[in-house]
Amino acid sequence: MSQHVARLGRRAGVRPARALRRRFSGYSRRPRRVAMLSVHTSPLHQPGTGDAGGMNVYIVELSKRLAELGVEVEIFTRATTGALPPTVDLAPGVLVRHVDAGPYEGLAKEELPAQLCAFTHGVLQAEASHRPGYYDLVHSHYWLSGQVGWLSAERWGVPLVHTMHTMAKVKNAALAEGDTPEPAARIIGETQVVDAAQRLIANTAEEADELALHYDAPADRIEVVHPGVNLDLFRRADGRAAARRRLGLPQDAVIPLFAGRIQPLKAPDVLLRAVAVLLEQDPGLRDRLVVPVVGGPSGTGLAKPEHLHKLAARLGIADVVRFQPPVGQRELADWYRAATTLVTPSYSESFGLVAIEAQACGTPVVAAAVGGLPVAVRDGVTGFLVDGHDPADYARVLRRFVDRPRLRRSLGEAAARHAEAFGWGASASAMADVYADVTAPGRRPVHV
Ligand code: UDP
Repeated sequence: MSQHVARLGRRAGVRPARALRRRFSGYSRRPRRVAMLSVHTSPLHQPGTGDAGGMNVYIVELSKRLAELGVEVEIFTRATTGALPPTVDLAPGVLVRHVDAGPYEGLAKEELPAQLCAFTHGVLQAEASHRPGYYDLVHSHYWLSGQVGWLSAERWGVPLVHTMHTMAKVKNAALAEGDTPEPAARIIGETQVVDAAQRLIANTAEEADELALHYDAPADRIEVVHPGVNLDLFRRADGRAAARRRLGLPQDAVIPLFAGRIQPLKAPDVLLRAVAVLLEQDPGLRDRLVVPVVGGPSGTGLAKPEHLHKLAARLGIADVVRFQPPVGQRELADWYRAATTLVTPSYSESFGLVAIEAQACGTPVVAAAVGGLPVAVRDGVTGFLVDGHDPADYARVLRRFVDRPRLRRSLGEAAARHAEAFGWGASASAMADVYADVTAPGRRPVHV
């Protein structure tokens, strides 16, 4: 448990979470029902492209496990087509509510701040059809939902728990060359949410520090809860050879894999450039090198969806790169198993679910030493961390896998063991403890 939840104890004068919880354990209780807010992306969308990624997976997995612990969850998300039913049962105890806010299609995430009032109206209306006290707590995700959560929680007199997922100031401090910075309006909105929330959930201690450093978040309102991995889905199963057979990949190939949303922040171009360096140094490798890029364009990458294809052609490696549109997680697990290593050269990453998923499948990870990736990957044990984004450095690490074919297996075994500590059950139980702490009598915000 202590690995999954730790109040920001590194700061002087901050009481460790467990001691604090023990103090309240006599009368704290888990909430019966939580309103989970996910304005800009639906838990029902396929992750790996557009606005759907780790946050969607996080909300789905967390909600299911919370429901198993007896905490009912209702997830509010914006309706993006007219054909959607008002509610969908996602799993026992987990309901998705579609909220009408703005036109169904053609509304970019950047345009959603103008719809927050309409969205909040939908959330308040849903609650108003029940007896008072229907939701015990609001948990909002990403700053847009935080704005809705701020008002709803205050209106209902319940606590607001907020997870940032990404922060504008952190992203802007580590932009890829030529990438567009996040606007000032987002920073203002995030700051308001930090002020309004009773608890801020950080994925890692590093993110907790960033919240304090960039947004002045008080240490006693931050909790660290590591995200998890679905260990039933992401596991070694029948191994690499079988996965390669299923995907039609050669058994003797060296396969550095990229998986995730294709946008400058994730730096798939660094992998392609590293592969070009590798091939320049060892042209003989070309016949047994396959570089799958699994995922679709997203964020600022949407402006030039063909950018990566063109780059592969320009680098003269189009024959080894295999672009694969986003796949369901069951198939993604096979891509992880088939890979020699997963490569995540991101400029910024609040955690990097793909890194822990690949390891759970027994595949080591080569990651940039940024954000949560040093928590997800143990350098030299379950993969390698690389400082910076110089393709030559990534090529050097990839070279180790070429020269030492047994490396994948030894790191992969340690990776699978490491990932086992990250089951979603532990994350949900840690989150439920945070909920219990914040809903304890005497801690409720005053009803306005
Ligand atoms: N993913 C998927 N299909 C794909 C590519 C990615 O389902 O083709 C999922 C993947 O399993 C992971 C999530 O998308 O859970 C990406 O999360 P991550 O934290 O790595 O990045 P984010 O999208 O949050 O930036």
